[in-house]
Amino acid sequence: MADHRGIELKSVDQLRQMRRAGLVVGRALEAMAAACQPGLTTAELNDLAVEALAREKATSSFLGYDPGWAGGPFPGVVCVSINQEVVHGLPSPERVLATGDLVSIDFGAVLDGWHGDSAVSVEVGPVAPAVARLNQVTRQALWAGLAAARLGGRVSDISAAVEASVRSQKERYGLLRDYTGHGIGSAMHQEPDVPNYGRPGRGPALVEGLCLAIEPMLTLGSRRTAVLEDGWTVVTADDSCSAHWEHTMTVTKHGLWVLTALDGGEAELNRLGLPFGPLSD
Ligand code: MG
Ligand code: MG
Repeated sequence: MADHRGIELKSVDQLRQMRRAGLVVGRALEAMAAACQPGLTTAELNDLAVEALAREKATSSFLGYDPGWAGGPFPGVVCVSINQEVVHGLPSPERVLATGDLVSIDFGAVLDGWHGDSAVSVEVGPVAPAVARLNQVTRQALWAGLAAARLGGRVSDISAAVEASVRSQKERYGLLRDYTGHGIGSAMHQEPDVPNYGRPGRGPALVEGLCLAIEPMLTLGSRRTAVLEDGWTVVTADDSCSAHWEHTMTVTKHGLWVLTALDGGEAELNRLGLPFGPLSD
C-alpha cells in the first residue's frame, strides 16, 4: 500500500517480514564486527557476509545495485569504508585492516522481497581517543534520531534530533549533508529521504507502516566529501576520519521497533526511557 506521496506503508504481516530481514542483517553485522582484526582484508569481510546470506537463504541488497550516478553496478555485498572513507567503500583483497582503523561496515539483505539496511563502525584495536569519541558521538546521534520518532510526528523531527545531538557535544564535528537516510521496504531506497540536519515538524508524517533507515555520517573535520575514481567510495574532502551508524526502524502504536537491532532496540530504548514497540512474531 502507498500513501498519496508514494510512500510505501507496510501491513502488520509485512512489518514482521521486515523484522526477519532486519535480523538477518543484524546477525551478519555482529559476525563481521567480531571478525575485525588487524590483518583481515575487506574482501574477507565481504566473504563473511556472503556466507551469512547463504546461511539465512537471503540475497544481497547491494550486489549489482546501480543507482546510475555511481561507478557501475556495486561489486560486493558489503560497503567497507575505512577512516577517511565515509561510505560506499568497495571490498578488496588488497585492503588490509590495521590497528587504529575505524571501519564502517554497511550491509543490506533481502528476505522474501523485504530489505534490511544497517551499518556499524568498528574500532580495530586501540584507536586514537578522538576517533573513539567520534565513533561514540555518531552512534549516539543515531539513537537520538531513532528516539525522536513517534506516531504523529514528522520525518524532520528525526533529522533535527540527529543534528541537535551532534551540536550538543563539546567538540565540533562535520555532519554530512550530501548523503541521507531513506525509506526502505520492498526496495532498499525509497521515499522519503531522511536528512541528518534540519528543523523539526516538516516532511511526511510518521505513521504506522512507515519504515525508515536512519544513518548519520560524521567526520572529525569538514562535512564536504569527494568520490574516488572507482565511482563509489565517498571520502572526506579534507582527509579527516569519519564514522557511520545506521538502523532500519518503524514506529508501532506501542513504541519504537528497531528492525535491524538484535534485541529490537529494547535495551537502548529502556536506557533512554522510551517505549519499545515490537509486534508479536
Ligand atoms: Mg546502509
Ligand atoms: Mg541506508
